[in-house]
Parts: sequence; C-alpha cells; structure tokens
Amino acid sequence: MARSHNNSMPTGGKTLIAAAQIKDLAVAVGFNLVGIADPCVSAYAREYQAWLAQGQHGAMQYLEDSVAARTNLSRAFPWVKSVISVAMTYYTPEPAPPSAGEASLSDAPATLPSADQAIATARIARYAWGRDYHRVLMGHLRQLENEIRRLTADDFVSRAYVDTGPVHERELAARAGLGWIGKNTLLINPRHGSWFALGELLTSLPLEFDSAQPDRCGSCTRCLDACPTSALTPYQLNATRCISYHTLENRGDIPDEFHQPIREAQYILGCDICQTVCPWNHRPLLSEEQDFQPQAPAPTVKLQAVRQWRPEDWDRLTRGKAHRRAKLNMWQRTARILEKQ
Ligand code: SF4
Ligand code: SF4
Repeated sequence: MARSHNNSMPTGGKTLIAAAQIKDLAVAVGFNLVGIADPCVSAYAREYQAWLAQGQHGAMQYLEDSVAARTNLSRAFPWVKSVISVAMTYYTPEPAPPSAGEASLSDAPATLPSADQAIATARIARYAWGRDYHRVLMGHLRQLENEIRRLTADDFVSRAYVDTGPVHERELAARAGLGWIGKNTLLINPRHGSWFALGELLTSLPLEFDSAQPDRCGSCTRCLDACPTSALTPYQLNATRCISYHTLENRGDIPDEFHQPIREAQYILGCDICQTVCPWNHRPLLSEEQDFQPQAPAPTVKLQAVRQWRPEDWDRLTRGKAHRRAKLNMWQRTARILEKQ
C-alpha cells in the first residue's frame, strides 16, 4: 500500500482528513491497495490521441467521446484536488470440478484439451468468475466515501468510478504509487502482480500525493511473446487484435485471422494470457471477497451448453456478472469459432 505521513490539517475552524487516515479507511472497507494521485493533466494525452486516430480502440466509441475529460480531469471536474486510487484482488483458486450428479448447464472438466484436440470447453477470464467487479468495488467505494464524508467538512465533493467514467484509471493508479504500467499495459504491483480491479474516488480534498513506482519490466518480453494475436507492442494494446476485445466488445463478426488464435487460447470470454505469463504474478494475493468466488458459468464452460443456451439461460447465468457485457449471440458466435475444426 502506498502511504504518506501527513496529519489532519486544521483549516478555517474545520479539520481536514489526512491521507494516512483515508488509507486506513480504505483498507478497513476491504481494499488491498490504496494511494493518492495528483489529478494533473495526463502524461499520455498525445499517445492516447494517436492511438484513437489509428483506430486501435475499435468499436469502443465511448473512448473518443470522453477524450477531453480523460486527458484532463480538471476540465470535467473543476473541483477535483486529489484522486484516491484503490485496488482489490479478484484472484481466486481454481474451483474443484463438479462431482458426479452435479452436472449443470455450464459444467466442465477442470482440465482443458490441448489445441489439436476438438475443443469442448473454453475458459472465462478470471475477472469474470465472480460477481461483477464494477458492482463489488463500487459498493466498497461508497462505504469509503461515506466514511470520509462523516469525518470531513460539509463541502466535501467526490465522484466514484470503477471502469465506468472518463478517467484513465491505470495512469492514476500508477501515479498513486500502486504499481507501474507494464508492457502488457496493465497495472503491476511489485508485491502482488496485476490480478486487481481498480477504482477511484475523485475528491475536493487537498491530500498529500504519493510517488510513482519505477517500471520493473526490464528486458522481459513474456507477455509480448505469448500474446496469440500480436496485440501488444510494448506498453500499447491494439484492441482490434485482442481476444478480450473481440469476445466482449465486438458485437459483429470476428475477423477470420483471429479464429485460430482464439481456438489456441481457448477463451470464450476475455483472455488472461498476458497476465498469466507475467513473472510478477507468481505470488498472487488471494481474494477474501465472497463476491469474487467463482460462480457458474466459470471458470470453464461447455461449448455445446453455450450453443444450447436460451435467452433465459443466458439471463440467469450472467445476471450480476461482468460477462453479461457479451450478449447471447456473442457467446454463441465465439463458441462456434472455438468448436470449428
Ligand atoms: S488479453 Fe490476450 S489477446 Fe489481448 S493482449 Fe493479452 S494475451 Fe493478447
Ligand atoms: S510479462 Fe514481462 S514485460 Fe510483460 S508486463 Fe510482465 S514483466 Fe512486463
């Protein structure tokens, strides 16, 4: 956890909460990492605009719509003086395979076939094994927000986001000292790796900022080498080549060139390969959050079952989960690609 050491500051008869107090509160409400970031103009504004201009964001139009706020928070939130950046691990152990008699619409063996075998089961990315991380983290952020409000002046203003607003959350997390942005473009904490969901609370509080951490990727290229679609160049993701984008965001056809890589990766939803190979993920922090424990249909799903899902099956199995972003026709489209020989 990034920490600073200022004490409560009296101003105009009111006591402002200190960064150290906020960090204790964040840990108390369940966050694993917390730091304070300066809400200054993005250091990546030019790269970000070039990335958009090249169309590497694909069909994610909302990234274009919010570019001004994303690169300069003060434009959208003139009152913002600090950003409390938080992270929560969603890493849970692989659940045991169901025993005989426990078969369900989503049951699947724990061992996946090799790439040259007919694929009957496919993986779901770890972040989507449990309840929707947006909801889980937002619940904890609201608790934190309420605690801070209780202890601060009446004019405290804040805004909470979990991958839902016009904020560059990885850059803010790196600025807040939670880790560095790796060549796989993910936030990597030097103790616990990258299996974290991020959130942030924009605030009107003048808090002491934390310091960024050094980049520790060094000469490693494991994520670049392992990506089945060559979607990564160091520190940049071409979303239009990424399996996670195609399985979750692309509502149309997936280009033919990605069908074989998708079969080799064996993911029907998301993709964890560039995290799994990262050496900083050798000692993940296990989630104690009940909501992140795996629920059907995770961690693997039978493709035949997916193809037979009716709208009501999709609705029941994805309700409250992050993978609801993929509509039924998208699940079944990707299942057909995975099964094709
Ligand atoms: S999520 Fe998968 S496809 Fe996307 S960059 Fe990482 S390894 Fe490549
Ligand atoms: S796999 Fe290597 S290069 Fe990629 S993010 Fe991890 S440490 Fe950095």
